[in-house]
Amino acid sequence: MSLLIKNGMVVCGDETVDADVYAEGSKIVKIGANLDCAADNVIDASGKIVMPGFVDMHCHLREPGQEYKEDIASGSAAALRGGFTSVACMPNTVPPIDNAALVKYVLTRAAEVDRAKVYPIGCITKHQQGKEIAEMGFMKENGAVAFSDDGRPVENANIMRLALEYASGLKTLIISHSEDKQLAADGVVNEGLNSTVSGLKGITRAAEECMVSRDVILAETLGARIHIAHVSTRGSVEIIRQAKARGVAVTCETCPHYFSATDDEILNYNTNSKINPPLRLQSDVEAIIEGLRDGTIDAIATDHAPHHADEKNLEFNLAPFGTSGFETAFSLAYTNLVETDIIDIAALSKLMSANPAKILGIGSGEIKEGERADIVVIDPEKSYTVDSSKFVSKGKNSLFNGWKLKGAVEYVIVDGMQKEIKNYDR
Ligand SMILES: [Zn+2]
Repeated sequence: MSLLIKNGMVVCGDETVDADVYAEGSKIVKIGANLDCAADNVIDASGKIVMPGFVDMHCHLREPGQEYKEDIASGSAAALRGGFTSVACMPNTVPPIDNAALVKYVLTRAAEVDRAKVYPIGCITKHQQGKEIAEMGFMKENGAVAFSDDGRPVENANIMRLALEYASGLKTLIISHSEDKQLAADGVVNEGLNSTVSGLKGITRAAEECMVSRDVILAETLGARIHIAHVSTRGSVEIIRQAKARGVAVTCETCPHYFSATDDEILNYNTNSKINPPLRLQSDVEAIIEGLRDGTIDAIATDHAPHHADEKNLEFNLAPFGTSGFETAFSLAYTNLVETDIIDIAALSKLMSANPAKILGIGSGEIKEGERADIVVIDPEKSYTVDSSKFVSKGKNSLFNGWKLKGAVEYVIVDGMQKEIKNYDR
């Protein structure tokens, strides 16, 4: 099979070039103007942006155990719909992915459904109980790309220290869900004026920042790598900025909701605005955006957290945390970061592809001769209103339902093969 994408604006590293992209089999063979190559599949990308396929380093596919929320088939299809050609899934499933057999199960199932590539993340501790380190070595040998107890913190600092030591030895990555549970104290929204006004229990920003500090210090002490998940506060950005300046091997991600929305969203008690960590203040949004602009924040991840409608259709205190993220991530980033001239499309591409691919060590994430042909074609002019009832994901729980966004995914190519993405009118 060969593929020719003609007349697009191609994002290549730090620049964009008007070029054609030609792929043979799974690899990009040639990039250049007016390529004279016959191909089995020709895509006209006039007026479109040709980008490396997006890489999501933080999502929840819910399989095994909670297939009523999402499964590997529906989740990896929703990922494609959002332009993600590779996704790394968190292990807080039922049971948790804390052993090699379950890592293999996820990979086998993902290969069977053959949609977006799926990279399993294994648990740091057995059953995510925070007591005993899981068999990280076996899981890594069987395909786990990183380790996290995401959904909950590793509360015991000494267990986290051991995990970082093992991970260093194994040359793998620990991803920290930075939350001090005692400080969070069963809160459901950001602690501040809006928690008072709404009567909903607040979570102090210190719950996140104390744990970010702890884990940065542990990594610094050991000379180990650490990645901080879903950074949401101004203080966390500053802690990480200073750590990077000292040479600590820390990387971090934020999610579209933390630069697109504030905790004003909770005032109508919409449970789709219940997210952990919670939506914060405008000053936090601005700090997150500055962190994305100055390179403190390395990646945009979705934290795609699909839930069944019946679970979100509860009173605010009882509804689960999270928003469905795959199918709005790019448009939110494009609308709020690129259309506003905060960063250019090449910088956004790094945040959504090259950087997360590098952090996870899964290769690609770039459009380059010899690289895997994982490509997304974007229509930058298309505006649409989000209709989450039409999501490919089983999780229709989108904070952004009804929002008007710009920039839409038109074509997705994985390993040189154009994938079916349901072109719902939205
Ligand atoms: Zn988390």
